[in-house]
Amino acid sequence: MASRRDRTVTERVFSGFRVTGEQHIGNYLGAIRNYVDLQADYDCIYCAVDVHSLTTLEDARQVGENSLTSATVMLAAGVDPERSIIFVQSHVPEVMELAEYFAMLTPLAVLTRVPTFKEKVRQQPENVNLGLVGYPALMAADILLYRASVVPIGVDQEPHLEFAREIARKFNGRFGETFPEPRSVHTTTPLVRGLDGQSKMSKSMGNHIPIGASPAETRRLVMTAVTDPQRQRRTDPGRPELCNVYSLHEIFSPAHVKHVYRQCTTAGWGCVDCKSLLADSINGAFAEFRERCAELAADPDRVRAILRDGAARASAIARETMAEVRARMGLLAG
Ligand code: ADP
Repeated sequence: MASRRDRTVTERVFSGFRVTGEQHIGNYLGAIRNYVDLQADYDCIYCAVDVHSLTTLEDARQVGENSLTSATVMLAAGVDPERSIIFVQSHVPEVMELAEYFAMLTPLAVLTRVPTFKEKVRQQPENVNLGLVGYPALMAADILLYRASVVPIGVDQEPHLEFAREIARKFNGRFGETFPEPRSVHTTTPLVRGLDGQSKMSKSMGNHIPIGASPAETRRLVMTAVTDPQRQRRTDPGRPELCNVYSLHEIFSPAHVKHVYRQCTTAGWGCVDCKSLLADSINGAFAEFRERCAELAADPDRVRAILRDGAARASAIARETMAEVRARMGLLAG
C-alpha cells in the first residue's frame, strides 16, 4: 500500500457521532480529537448523526437542538469547515436509500449478532425497533455513500466497521467494484472507562463526564469516580494500575503522573486529593474548548450556515454515488 507521502489521490475520511446532546470525554479521546488531527492529511467529512439517534431517543423533540450542539462540539474541538465538511446526517437523505439497498444484502441473523445490538436489547427491552437492528446498515451507508476509506472511531465501533467492510465486499462482488473497504483508525485512548471504573464511558450508562460540563460539575463527577476497591482507609496504599482515576491522570496530567503514582502507592495522598488534581487537569484541558463552545452557542446562525454549506457539498458526492449505485444494481433510470 502507498505510504501517506507518496499517495497521489487524497483518501477520504468519514466519521460522526450520535446527537445525544452531551458528548463526553470518552467520545473526545476515542474519536473527536482524531477528527481534528486527520484534517492535515485527508479529505474529511464529519457528520452529526441524527437519524441513528432516533433509535434510542425517548424525546425526539430534542434532536434538532442536539444536532446543533454536536456541530458546535466539532467546531470548538478544531474541525475547520473551510477544509472539512461538517453536516447533519438527515440533510443528505440519500443515505437512507443506500441503507435500504444494503438491508436487502444482509441476513437478519448477521444483524442480531452485532454486540451493540445485543447491548441495546438489554438496555431498552421495551423499545427494540427496526432501526436498532438496522443500525449497522445505516452506518455502512454513511461511510460508503462518501466512499470513505478511513474511519476514526473508538474500539467499541469495530464490529460496525467490520460490517461495513463486509457489505462493501458483497456489493462489489455482486454488482462490480463500487466501494472501498474502509479501515478504522484509533487514537492512543480508543477505549475510555467510565466513572464506575468498569465499563466503557457512555452516556447511556450514565458513567460519563460531559466535555461541556462546568468546572464545578466536572469536579463533582470526578469525586464520584470509583477507585481501587482495596483502598478503604486513607492509610491504605493504592494500586494505580487498577485505578481508572490514575489512567485518566495518565491522559490529562502527564506532568504530574509520576507524583500521583508515588502518592497513591505510599498512601501519601487520599483518593480525594488525587481526584481533586484530576478535576483541575480535566478543567484545564477543556477550558479553551468550553470558551469556543460558548462563543459558537451564542451565534447559532453561523453554525447553521456551516451545516447548510456542508450538506450542499456532501449532497454533491452522495448524488454521484447513488446514480452509480442505482445503475450498477440495474434499476431503471427515471
Ligand atoms: P456513546 O457510546 O456515548 O453513545 P457514540 O456511540 O455516539 O457514543 O460514539 C461516538 C464516537 O465516540 C464513536 O467513534 C465511539 O467509538 C467513540 N466512543 C464512545 N465512547 C467511547 C469511549 N468510552 N472510549 C473511546 N471512544 C468512545
